[in-house]
Formats: sequence, C-alpha cells, structure tokens
Amino acid sequence: MMVFLIQLLLWGSLKVKGNFFVLTDLHYDIAYEPNYSSKSYCHSIALSEGPAILEKSIDKAISGRYYCDSPIDLINKVAWKMKEIDSIPDFILILGDHLAHHTMELFAESGNLNLEETKELVKKTYVDIDSVFKTVFPESQVIYLIGNNDGYVDYESFIDGQGEEYLEFLYNNWKELTGEIDTSFYEGGYYSVFTDNRLKIICLNSNYFSYKFEGSKQESNNQMAWFKQELNDSEENVIIAMHIPPGISIYNKAQQLWTDEYLEKFTELVQVHKEKILFIFAGHLHFSSFELLPDVDIPIIIHKSVSPIYGNNPGFRYYTYRDNFSDYIDYSLELKNFKWDSYRFSQLFEIDSLNMKSLYKSLVNDYGKLKNYISKAVGFDLADIEKSWKILLDMDYTSDKELGIATFLCSLLEISYDKFQICMEKMNSNMINNLD
Ligand SMILES: [Zn+2]
Repeated sequence: MMVFLIQLLLWGSLKVKGNFFVLTDLHYDIAYEPNYSSKSYCHSIALSEGPAILEKSIDKAISGRYYCDSPIDLINKVAWKMKEIDSIPDFILILGDHLAHHTMELFAESGNLNLEETKELVKKTYVDIDSVFKTVFPESQVIYLIGNNDGYVDYESFIDGQGEEYLEFLYNNWKELTGEIDTSFYEGGYYSVFTDNRLKIICLNSNYFSYKFEGSKQESNNQMAWFKQELNDSEENVIIAMHIPPGISIYNKAQQLWTDEYLEKFTELVQVHKEKILFIFAGHLHFSSFELLPDVDIPIIIHKSVSPIYGNNPGFRYYTYRDNFSDYIDYSLELKNFKWDSYRFSQLFEIDSLNMKSLYKSLVNDYGKLKNYISKAVGFDLADIEKSWKILLDMDYTSDKELGIATFLCSLLEISYDKFQICMEKMNSNMINNLD
C-alpha cells in the first residue's frame, strides 16, 4: 500500500512536467535551387504568376537564402540542432505551412510541369519532411498541423477543395510519428492527440476561422462545435495549437486575422476552460510575438518561421514546464555564417513563467527591452534592430517609427480590430519618448 501511495505521489508530481519543441512555417521548397537568386525565389522553374526572369546567383546557398523558402538541407540542420539539445523530447509540435509558397504555381502556362505533376510535388514535400523527422527523432512523437499554405489552394476548405483523398494522404503520412489521430481529421484536418506524458493537444485547423477562408460556414461551425466539445471533455493539461492566431497581423497593413464571430467564440471558450489550458500556440506571422486575451492569463504564443522568406533568420523553440513554472529557449540560425544563437526567456526579459502581461508592461516602459524583443522576434541581434524593424513591420512604418511601435504594441494587447484601433488612438508619445 505504501509503495502504491509513493508511486501515486511520484506520478502525480510528474504529470505536469516536460520538455518539448515548437517550430512552424517550414515552407520546405521542393523546387529550391541553391544557384538561383531570391529574385526568382531560388527557382530554376518559372512560376505561373511570378517573375519571368530566372536569375542565377553568384554564390551557392545550399542551406538556405534570405527571401527564399527552405531547402531540405535547412530542415535537416534545424532537426539535427534540436536533436543536439534534446534527443528524446516529449514531443515536437509543428504548427503548419509545410509547403513552400508558390509550389502550386510551378505548373501552368509558363511552367515545365502539369497540374498532376505539381500535386505529386506537394505530396512529396510532406513525405520528405516526415522522413527528416523519422530519421532524426525516430522515438519521438511529432504532431503536425495544417496551415493556410498546406493545400492545393490556399485557405480552401479541405472537404470541398482538396478532397478526402488529400486528407487521407496526410493522415497516413503523419500517423506513424503523430500516433492515434482521431477521425475528426477527415472533417477538415483538425484533431486532438494525447502525448505520453498525458497532455492533450487540440490541433485546430484555423483556416476555417480566417476571414480569407473559402468554404462553407457550416464546416467552420462544425469545427468550433467540435472544439467546444473537446474542451468540455478535457479534464486538465490541454495545449491548444493552431496555425493562424486569432488576432491582429501587422505585416503590411494591420488587419484582424479571424472573423469576429469565431474570435468571440474562441475567446469565450478559453475563458470558460482557462483552468485546464497550459499553453496556446500559433505560427503564421513568421516572427515571434504573443497576444493577450481578455480576462485570462493564458497568452497566445506565436513563433517565428523556419523559412527565411521574409529576410528573417530561421528558428525554433524548446519549452520546459514544471508545475506552475514554464520557460523557453529560443534558437536562431544566423544564415550568413550558419551560427546558432539562443536566449532563455526568463533570463533575457527577467520574467518568470512566460508571464506575457508582465512582458507587455516592460516592453511598453522600456525601449531597450522592446528593441531586444523585436530583434529576437526575427532571429537577429540587437545590433540589427533597424533591419529587424523593417522585417517585422514592412516598409509602411519605417518612415514613422512611433506609428510602427504603437502598431506592434497594440497588436499584442488587442485581438479585435475595433479595440486595436482604440488602442492606437490612446497610444500617446509618453511611452516612446525615449527613442534613440
Ligand atoms: Zn507561412
């Protein structure tokens, strides 16, 4: 009896403890050519809607080039670096956008391929990525999500658009590393899965909640109803994972990423079930960020991309959590010299347990910390702050830094566009009068 009790106590204390990796937006480009410049997206094949010129480069960038998507060598480098850090993580979470931009444009009038051949390239992309992780992490659970670039057509419904055959393909490709994927996957590429250390990961297909979604509303409603049921059925230790976060994208022009209806429903569900939720993770923006949700302490944590397509450095994160304490180490690969750099959240920002409300306050009040956050968000050093601002905010804001800073800070604080605008009006120069 005593042994049993001790075991129970040990088991009880072990259940909220672990280490795992999060990465996103791999955008593995199966047509990547190291001898071609970023002007033709490192392609030697013309795109149907891209520039007609195919420009050769002077150098040979085997492991990746800024403003191109990722070659397989980069995916390999990332996976082996992860292995060096932890060879047996509890699990690896990959938050979607496995396909390169423009993959489906490789065919058509100007291209060398036909539609069927291009579709085969799409499928081979998934097979190649999966085989990297099978080789490097044969013992680990790898959990894949669907992003907006992961179908034959971006933002399309998986039932009406790609068809069941496509989902069947993904299911069969992923299940070996992911484990038992439930049948909801066939409804639109969303599912939940348990990890060995008893976490439940709810993998949404947030394309269905995007304002750009092209499909029936019924399907989006079905997924939201499923999500509600999944939360109701969960007792504790839930991670919510998705590709597109519900919030404001500041790239190019600030815009709300989800429709109002699903934004409200999602927020309400998180508020109701907040005691059960450990983390909410997303990708899509290609830079690291976070979003505070109203009336809850659980932020949405957004990850920078593996793909260097926006001129960012590739990267990933290693999370640790134990009881009420959590932290991460953020890794970036400096593409010019192929040097890895890293920082620990709690050390760099002097904040415990990923408390993003505290981080937000310190970013508002301390311009030094804000500059540090911005440069790390795209995988650079503080010395590259000007370049980092440009990558993060696009060119629109670079002439007006105060506007850019206000836009960024308001995007952390508000998830709906109406409130974001009120925030922008309120933001005065008080917080940024220390600009240098
Ligand atoms: Zn992406």
